[in-house]
Amino acid sequence: MKKITLSNGETVEVKCLSCALTNGLVKPEGGVVIETEHFHAHQDVAYPIRGLIILASKRHIKCLDDLTQSERLDYIDVLARIRKAQRTALGIEHVYYFYNEDTTHHFHTWMVPRYEWMYNFGRSVESVRPVLLHARNEMNTKENVEEVKEAIDILTKELNK
Ligand SMILES: [Zn+2]
Repeated sequence: MKKITLSNGETVEVKCLSCALTNGLVKPEGGVVIETEHFHAHQDVAYPIRGLIILASKRHIKCLDDLTQSERLDYIDVLARIRKAQRTALGIEHVYYFYNEDTTHHFHTWMVPRYEWMYNFGRSVESVRPVLLHARNEMNTKENVEEVKEAIDILTKELNK
């Protein structure tokens, strides 16, 4: 079991955070941005960066090659739809994508928008962990969290119209 702290300070114990989210046991703050037959996308507001999205499979699998043919098609389709919405609705020019198979939870892709301020933490991939930690530790202000939630609403509308 894994103990997780929600953004509102409450803690819950779950076997797999991704399962808890895709089954609706844990509700992401700001809600689900889009749900398809096989995938579920939300923002983890623990990292308050406008437009950062986590796309998780509904099935508890670990590796890309565990995806069925129908899941693969759904995955690339919804990934590209979210990317397009980030561009058209939020003006996000570049995105970094991360996914590691040795995760404690299950198949999920981080879509991290690249903003100007992030270059203060380094040029490329090496800056991502410092950027995420900075966001979690220094950007949890009321104003910023409101902006992040506004972006979640914008993306949700764009993806479900
Ligand atoms: Zn799972």
